[in-house]
Amino acid sequence: MPAVDKLIAGHQRFIKGYYEQNKHKLSKLAKQGQSPKIAIISCSDSRVDPTTILDCEPGDLFVIRNVANLIPPCESSDSLHGTSAAIEYAVMDLKVESIIVLGHTNCGGIKALMDTSPCSTPETFTSKWMQQLKGVRTEVLEHNHKSENSCYHECEEKGIIHSLNNLMTFPWIKERVEAGKLYVHGWHYDLDNGSLYAKSKNSDEFEQIG
Ligand SMILES: [Zn+2]
Repeated sequence: MPAVDKLIAGHQRFIKGYYEQNKHKLSKLAKQGQSPKIAIISCSDSRVDPTTILDCEPGDLFVIRNVANLIPPCESSDSLHGTSAAIEYAVMDLKVESIIVLGHTNCGGIKALMDTSPCSTPETFTSKWMQQLKGVRTEVLEHNHKSENSCYHECEEKGIIHSLNNLMTFPWIKERVEAGKLYVHGWHYDLDNGSLYAKSKNSDEFEQIG
């Protein structure tokens, strides 16, 4: 079966199943609008669908996805800032209570960053996007002399922390976090066994939460 036909068949099952059973809720969401309490930034990786791995339903999560779940710093250039625009909408309009940066193991974007020297990298959209973490890459290579896998893992976690720090460069986020009106979290999901880890509040260590 072609991949697209599989989706159309899936939609039919959705209509007969979930949609039919939740008609009232979905109709209310359509009429009244969404009011998710959580915005989540995750990787575009097909294995890390936040709604699936966190067992959520339509209306629960405002999901922003990009390569390697990166949040660029607040900038006022004329470039098109897709991720920043989505975060702005989540915070200013939807008034979410929490923002979660969700990274994961075996991240292709992180692996490409770690495996390729910035000097030899062709200028693609992806390589330029991943260069946001070039400082993190250098730091990991300088301090991590263990296995390749442990370098990737360290870079994934440091990438999450980098994005959390960048979140605070948006003045309207910093202000809300300092006032206790908005919470930010860094999570790391293990593709192999489904475990979930969260960055500790007081250190850069990640602790298992699920
Ligand atoms: Zn990824």
